[in-house]
Amino acid sequence: MSITIDKSKCIGCGKCRTVCPGSLIKKDENGKAFIKYPKDCWGCTSCVKECPVHAVRFYLGADIGGMGSLVHTESMGDILRWVIEKSDGEISKIDINRKESNKY
Ligand code: SF4
Ligand code: SF4
Repeated sequence: MSITIDKSKCIGCGKCRTVCPGSLIKKDENGKAFIKYPKDCWGCTSCVKECPVHAVRFYLGADIGGMGSLVHTESMGDILRWVIEKSDGEISKIDINRKESNKY
């Protein structure tokens, strides 16, 4: 499991570095984020959800049927949208209402 960071989108806000529980994300000489220890990433997706410019994407591994798909999130008020980009270019979107998601 790991993430990838698109440096061309990164604005250097540092949010991903702050939330990573394993301190796996570092800052390069230009202030852009990069994952220094990808093998240690356990896929909590905190950095994906925090990035304001969708520069962080999470790999969906073959073991869960991802087949190389990448996921990023878009935040719209209470709605967190999970955007899945498949390797063939197909895009799927799943909207989660954050207020409703914590109700059991
Ligand atoms: S998914 Fe979680 S563990 Fe992996 S780099 Fe992002 S914040 Fe760190
Ligand atoms: S949260 Fe996004 S924009 Fe901010 S430093 Fe990380 S990758 Fe760059």
